[in-house]
Amino acid sequence: MAGSENVYIAEDGTIKAADAKVKVPVREQDPKIRATNFDEVCYGYNQEEAIAEASRCLNCKNAKCIAGCPVEIDIPAFIQQVKNGEFAKAYETISSSSALPAICGRVCPQETQCEGVWIRGMKGDAISIGKLERFVADWAKEQNIKPLSCTLKNGHKVAVIGSGPAGLTCAGDLARIGYDVTIFEALHKPGGVLLYGIPEFRLPKDAVVAPEIENVMDMGVKIETNTIIGKSVYIDELFEEGYEAVFIGSGAGLPVFMGIPGENANGVFSANEYLTRNNLMKAFRDDYDTPIKCGKKVVVVGGGNVAMDATRTALRLGSEVHIVYRRTEAELPARVEEVGHAKEEGVIFDLLTNPVEILTDDDQWVKGIKCIRMELGEPDASGRRRPIPVEGSEFEIDCDIVIMALGTSPNPLISSTTEGLDTNKKKCIIADEADGKTSKEGVFAGGDAVTGAATVILAMGAGKDAAKGIDEYIRNRSK
Ligand code: FAD
Ligand code: SF4
Repeated sequence: MAGSENVYIAEDGTIKAADAKVKVPVREQDPKIRATNFDEVCYGYNQEEAIAEASRCLNCKNAKCIAGCPVEIDIPAFIQQVKNGEFAKAYETISSSSALPAICGRVCPQETQCEGVWIRGMKGDAISIGKLERFVADWAKEQNIKPLSCTLKNGHKVAVIGSGPAGLTCAGDLARIGYDVTIFEALHKPGGVLLYGIPEFRLPKDAVVAPEIENVMDMGVKIETNTIIGKSVYIDELFEEGYEAVFIGSGAGLPVFMGIPGENANGVFSANEYLTRNNLMKAFRDDYDTPIKCGKKVVVVGGGNVAMDATRTALRLGSEVHIVYRRTEAELPARVEEVGHAKEEGVIFDLLTNPVEILTDDDQWVKGIKCIRMELGEPDASGRRRPIPVEGSEFEIDCDIVIMALGTSPNPLISSTTEGLDTNKKKCIIADEADGKTSKEGVFAGGDAVTGAATVILAMGAGKDAAKGIDEYIRNRSK
């Protein structure tokens, strides 16, 4: 045995998984204990577990997993390197395609990306690609191994707006090939949703996010925080300052509300505000002054990953927490893993339920939420069965906090202050899928600002494609 009951040492001395069809399980904090703290839930693999998991790889000739990864990591190569214990080589393989592997290994929806197309998926559990990627990135950090960077500069300046995964990836890829890149970030710290949205217990800030941002800065990328493009500086001014191209990776940070009575009451939060207070402004820590209302009973409206993060945060702040969602568990848009974690920790799911009014006391503080029961009808345009209210089924849930987690859209500040930059009806910037080109000369865009709220790895893929587009654009201009 080598550290885990699912791992054994074979007669030839190699480390193997006990059952090649089943994932080597990953160790996690006990649900009862973790529901009371903000420490990371998942411990990740140790060396033996990582080698055993990698040994399950079929190493098939026509590896489909690479196509499932928007930044095209050479997955079969790095998995073989892990299997052989060549962790430094595995890090070189991964970091040549991704600037944020410790982050993606933790938060990528692998089940629908690389692991979703994995051939082993048909013959047993898919390989835990994300957990292996996380292991390699964490190992490299412990050894102080940095990704390769470029020492030769080409003299061309590029501005990047936003320091989320799209901006960091675009900036890192351009710096790697010699560009002089500056990121302009509205907040006082870089990282975008990685910092202010995804909670500490899923994505530790000091131990994981900060070091990967530092790696991007070590490649030569400069970051100017507290700079709001469209307010402190305009895009046209960036061109006047000598930037030859601009990448917009400003995300989709504007919360959506339901428009029901009582939504302006005291005690109603958008999930974004609630999570920002906790993650960026550390309200959960005693040594910070940031105020947060810890309700006795909290109702979170929505069923996506953001809703799961808000509920699990409220739970850790000591509240009883209910999720109100209008369809059934099968339609919950959140990752299955996140739903499972929320349930284990004690979150109560009120399914087929929709809010119709937020109830308040005389001082306009939340005292409850009025809901109606729903049933599922025929599939709608999205293919999901349409929720229909059941007449006369209204009921009330007592609560003192309501958190709205219904989605977000791009903030129109940049598009409304930049002449010639086209957007669609949802205020998303229109950009070419292949290279991020927008309607405005020299301006490229990608990530949530273009697609609306999506995922870290899709934003990174868009940042990567735009970096290629910008390089081609500047090279053609310089001819
Ligand atoms: P963002 O990460 O939003 O970054 C945009 C940056 O631009 C921000 O730092 C913002 O301050 C800055 N900015 C905006 N306007 C300006 C301006 N005018 N001037 C200067 N800077 C500006 N995805 C996953 O894959 N897995 C998950 O588990 C997951 N969980 C999530 C949990 C939460 C709570 C949320 C909110 C999202 C989650 N997502 C998850 C989605 C994912 O985080 C986003 O899709 C991704 O961060 C988008 O990256 P981006 O770079 O486009 O934008
Ligand atoms: Fe899979 Fe995401 Fe890693 Fe790509 S970055 S290999 S999609 S976990």
